[in-house]
Amino acid sequence: MTDTFKALVARKDDEFSVAYEDLTLADLGEGDVTVQVEYSTINYKDGLAVTNAAPITQKHPLILGIDLAGTVLESTHGNFSVGDKVVLNGYGASETHNGGYTQRARVNGDLLVKLPDAFSTRQAMAIGTAGYTAMLCVMSLEEGGVTPQSGDVLVTGAAGGVGSVALALLSKLGYRTVASTGRAQEAEFLTGLGASEVIDRQGLSERGKPMQRELWAGVVDCVGSQTLANAIAQTQYNGVVAACGLAQGPDLPATVMPFILRNVRLQGVDSVQAPMARRVEAWRRLASDLDIAKLEALSFDVPFTELLETAPQILAGKLRGRAIVDLSA
Ligand code: NDP
Repeated sequence: MTDTFKALVARKDDEFSVAYEDLTLADLGEGDVTVQVEYSTINYKDGLAVTNAAPITQKHPLILGIDLAGTVLESTHGNFSVGDKVVLNGYGASETHNGGYTQRARVNGDLLVKLPDAFSTRQAMAIGTAGYTAMLCVMSLEEGGVTPQSGDVLVTGAAGGVGSVALALLSKLGYRTVASTGRAQEAEFLTGLGASEVIDRQGLSERGKPMQRELWAGVVDCVGSQTLANAIAQTQYNGVVAACGLAQGPDLPATVMPFILRNVRLQGVDSVQAPMARRVEAWRRLASDLDIAKLEALSFDVPFTELLETAPQILAGKLRGRAIVDLSA
């Protein structure tokens, strides 16, 4: 195969730069599965990588994009055959090896998940790392014993990618959810996804008392910092807080009081190095627990050619729900 294809590549010579380049398969490096990438997406981490706001790329040159979904073109890996639909979430993509902002990818098959039949490759990227992380958060709440009967679940950063998919999942599973957002204009969007109540994030963003009124049986927190500290302080006895994000900040200005007096559990959630069995389980659960109509409602399209303009907007909290990047457009 001698065809050329486009990719968004980060280079670091004297200075860091990102540009579209024409590549051939010979540029892709090692891997036992070659994929025709059909869709990718924009996660918060992609915003950081494209703008170099944080040092996400650890080697250069490197194709950006932490997610991809597509069809296998060639494979010497035992689990994958030509024509299989596959998805890659994180696992070092756009950090230590090439990512998904490319029309062709060569990937270590051990990092790929076979896409459940329930989803097209486009829908897989409407989910992307953000949606798969939302599923991991919901699984963490369940593993901590939180059920729809336990009480309300708070979702912070609700209009963002992880938050919006978490709301859709929790609502299908029968939970009563409260969405915390800084965008009052998105209240209708959030109730459409299943939020029973929408609150202004300001109340959670500011310094609060170490122990507050018990409001939440569970929390999906995408925001970190003071918001996470307040969410923990408002979690009821035996409640579970799934912490996955840092949109407000990476700090945690909290005390141990809710842990030692209310038996509150703080559960970290990592998607990047999650073991394969947990990834496969998360994708299986997404196939059974995510309402496709809601997934369509929370996603929007971004042409591949507009990544440089659009990716920075996620850092400014301006993207709503999930971006789908069509690699053919
Ligand atoms: P988005 O930007 O789509 O969502 C983040 C949301 O957080 C925003 O939409 C906004 O929601 C809210 N927010 C933004 N800035 C602030 C602020 N200063 N204070 C309070 N709230 C704020 O990002 P994603 O959904 O893709 O990711 C969410 C977080 O989760 C990120 O920090 C990301 O790095 C992390 N993440 C972690 C993963 C892991 O493996 N642990 C995997 C995926 C994501 P609103 O407008 O509704 O207030």
